[in-house]
Amino acid sequence: MSQHDVIVIGAGVIGCSVAYHLAELGAQRVLVLDRGQVGAGTSSQSSGILRTHYSVPENVELARRSWQVFDRFAELLDDDQASAGLVKCGYLIAAPEGPKLEPLRAAIAAQQAMGIAVQRLSPAQALERLPICRFDDAALIGFEPEAGFADAYLVASSFARGARRRGVTILEGVEAQSLLLSEGRVAGVMSSRGRFDAPTVVSAQNIWATEIERWTGIATPVRAERHRVLALAGPQAYSRTMPVYKDLGSPGMLYCRSYGGTQMLVSEGTAGEALDGPDNEPGEVSIDQVIGIGAQVADRFPCFDSAGLASSWTGVYDVTPDWNPVLGHLPELPGLVVGYGFSGHGFKLSPAVGRVLAQAALGLPTDVSLAPYALERFRAGRLLSGRYGSGAVS
Ligand SMILES: Cc1cc2nc3c(=O)[nH]c(=O)nc-3n(C[C@H](O)[C@H](O)[C@H](O)COP(=O)(O)OP(=O)(O)OC[C@H]3O[C@@H](n4cnc5c(N)ncnc54)[C@H](O)[C@@H]3O)c2cc1C
Repeated sequence: MSQHDVIVIGAGVIGCSVAYHLAELGAQRVLVLDRGQVGAGTSSQSSGILRTHYSVPENVELARRSWQVFDRFAELLDDDQASAGLVKCGYLIAAPEGPKLEPLRAAIAAQQAMGIAVQRLSPAQALERLPICRFDDAALIGFEPEAGFADAYLVASSFARGARRRGVTILEGVEAQSLLLSEGRVAGVMSSRGRFDAPTVVSAQNIWATEIERWTGIATPVRAERHRVLALAGPQAYSRTMPVYKDLGSPGMLYCRSYGGTQMLVSEGTAGEALDGPDNEPGEVSIDQVIGIGAQVADRFPCFDSAGLASSWTGVYDVTPDWNPVLGHLPELPGLVVGYGFSGHGFKLSPAVGRVLAQAALGLPTDVSLAPYALERFRAGRLLSGRYGSGAVS
């Protein structure tokens, strides 16, 4: 038996951020358990895009606070070797006439009202920033300069290193097998390495959060969804100075960014392949899927008509019914705090989410209200749905 103040299950970018912030907030005996390795779960599959653009204002606030951390990462972690791998290339988002236009207009106006630097560009101005793209049908284009992409694995491992330097114990290769309960509240974790006692447990288990339902009977509305990502080598480079691009006009609501300095990383931002259970194994990327995404790319980036497929991979989202996470205490079980259901957009929120979950775990006021993210919203019908429909842009 071993006594701790807080146990975190999961050492992805969320769990490592929670652990780091717990230590920063003064928690003493913090233990992190992961059945695999730091950052090796779905975080290692992330496309890494950072933006504050959302149609859900609560997400804008979490993303804004997180960007402030990404932007000064090593300094804030007080660690010269910490790195987010940040590429500050900005974020372009465009919609043609049609159903996505009004949501885009409203989201940009909301960002501006919150003081976020987001500009409206003409097609000619957009073309200057992303000359390999075409904007002739764009009815509205937004550009966020304080945005770009980073590396979720690096961020997870930097938070883990920061947590360890502040006294946190991280055990890799140790599986949480059930929650220990006593007098109607959490008392610790039973693991593959025996019993660990703690009055507070934070679950940062991503698609494996369904284990909470198995352990406690409390519904966990999250399902695993597989997504395909391609790296394309075109005749012209998608350089690192070119912004991330979100194409609200394409059937798959494509997102694209520079990859490796010259290639394009591209994926669809709509619903993916529903899996029967939490399974993070690599899946197939069929030739039909490559052709389907490639055709959308060629339509928007004419010179990519002759692009070659450099590589492809899959990754799994933890999707909730409204494509937004569940954050905070579960009132049915005192002592349990959860952070799951990031629905393909959790990396950009991870610094702020780690801090608010740590605050919740320690019984402190949270920087932003967690009420909109409560599990209760699904029972009460107060969904946190974005205006773009299903998809990670939320
Ligand atoms: C293809 C893809 C592209 C993405 N692109 C973006 C993007 O551009 N921008 C963005 O913001 N987000 C993006 N995301 C989402 C983002 O990467 C995730 O939301 C984030 O990485 C999730 O982190 P996590 O810590 O919740 O999960 P994970 O990294 O999966 O960590 C969960 C950990 O919990 C551990 N665990 C679970 N159960 C147990 C147990 N019982 N015992 C011990 N350990 C356990 C697992 O081993 C795992 O390491 C993308 C995701 C994918 C898949």
